[in-house]
Amino acid sequence: MTIAAPGSPNSGETPSPVERSPRRALRFAVIGAGMSGILSAIKLSEAGHTDFTVYEKADRVGGTWRENTYPGLACDVPSHLYSYSFALTPEWSHLFSPGPEIQAYFERVAAEHGVGDRTRFGDEVLRCDLVDGRWNLTTASGHHDVVDVVIAATGVLHHPRMPEIDGMDSFDGPAFHSARFDHSVVLDGKRVGVIGTGSTAVQITGALVERVAHLSLFQRTAQWVMPVANPAYTDDERSGFRAHPERLAEVHDQLSQAFSVFARAVVDADSPELEMIEEACRANLETVRDPELRERLRPDHRAACKRLVISPDFYEAIQHPRAELVTDGIERIEPGGIRTADGRLHELDVLIYATGFHADAFMRPMEVTGRDGVTLAEVWRERPSAYLSISIPGFPNLFMLNGPNGPVGNFSLIEVAELQLAYIFRLLDRITADGHREICARREALERFEDERLEAARRTVWVTGCRSWYLDDRGVPAVWPWSFERFREVMAEPALSDYELS
Ligand code: NAP
Repeated sequence: MTIAAPGSPNSGETPSPVERSPRRALRFAVIGAGMSGILSAIKLSEAGHTDFTVYEKADRVGGTWRENTYPGLACDVPSHLYSYSFALTPEWSHLFSPGPEIQAYFERVAAEHGVGDRTRFGDEVLRCDLVDGRWNLTTASGHHDVVDVVIAATGVLHHPRMPEIDGMDSFDGPAFHSARFDHSVVLDGKRVGVIGTGSTAVQITGALVERVAHLSLFQRTAQWVMPVANPAYTDDERSGFRAHPERLAEVHDQLSQAFSVFARAVVDADSPELEMIEEACRANLETVRDPELRERLRPDHRAACKRLVISPDFYEAIQHPRAELVTDGIERIEPGGIRTADGRLHELDVLIYATGFHADAFMRPMEVTGRDGVTLAEVWRERPSAYLSISIPGFPNLFMLNGPNGPVGNFSLIEVAELQLAYIFRLLDRITADGHREICARREALERFEDERLEAARRTVWVTGCRSWYLDDRGVPAVWPWSFERFREVMAEPALSDYELS
């Protein structure tokens, strides 16, 4: 595999500080060896920042794709887009390739770039303290490190959210969260309950319904489902990509353009793009043959208000003779199954909680203390925030990839992280080249950004009347409320007046 040099047509970046030799050597810590951490390690090396360690609490790379192993796992961003721009591959099996293939991709790219050799596995960073302008890290094993710059590549959806339901501990059979899937449990021929109807539950339902004796899907809120086919790439198509690798960049860019359309739809509730998505979802629902089931599956909110579920086969799966949609509320969990509000006991052998994640944790529970002894816990007491989702006032030289209120959801988070990292490198240029030690967003810049974000959020589909993990405690979507084009523009060059240099 050839790695495109930054700034080359295939790199997806404009020329960056990467090509200049830094005047002051910096030591870095990258926290997390998931998609963003692998990216950081590769790009730091390329930039000549060779003094760094990646810290990973688990025993291998992969992040989300290491932790989620449930049956049916896939990424609903097309694989040729959900790839590093510098490590495009002709080998993807499907338009939306399965989870294990994505995990293998990250492991391969990390191995090819020696990321594992730079990673301290099985050692969680517990504390980061700013002492005399440098970050002092303490890990679970008691290891200490002192670095100039921290890149928190800690992911978004990685703290499983378990519901609070009476009697949860009393269930007789195996029960686990979707992100802690217990593969030692036999599911074939069993009565399986799945709680939740988000992207995860929909994928699990499709994968399990043929294998189990009975699948009960417990729906609290119906979801709109956008049907997108998932064709396999043929051998000829893969050979074509191998023979003409330049086509991979074309496909990546075309898909990126197509996704920008989707991004425009969700940030403008009145857009024609959103109307098209709504129509596609409504037409999909009409394929449900039983009118009574169809009505129970009909959401009472607009499509894409909650994170849109993309599935070519969910409605077929839920109409399977062995599947049952349960819409009566869950009253309690009993040794033999789930008792719903109508008094019925749904007898189960296995229970799967597809109940989502604590989406506002980010790098927490790590304890971070910045300038003047102020802690991240204090600054984020109400809710997490960061200027452009990257930099927190009072926490110099600490940068986040895919941090709070940034582009999430149906964007490719790889593209987001690549743009953010190139932006961070431009900031770092100021402290390597200009003789400064610290760079950090100004408080006023964060306040202005938050005001503008809240104002723009009013026009988005996310506030049109639904409950979702996008919404913060005030009901404000904790996401980027503008187009992806705007995100690219903002990331292209930092507005240095928004930063404090010292
Ligand atoms: P989710 O979207 O947060 O869905 C959680 C589900 O659990 C919801 O249906 C929720 O119901 C239900 N639930 C939670 N507590 C409950 C309770 N006490 N009783 C009954 N139901 C309860 O979580 P997710 O499906 O794991 O997906 C999270 C995100 O991960 C997605 O939005 C997406 O961004 C990402 N993801 C992506 C893919 C992909 O293909 N790229 C696949 C999986 C996940 P309510 O709707 O009523 O709250």
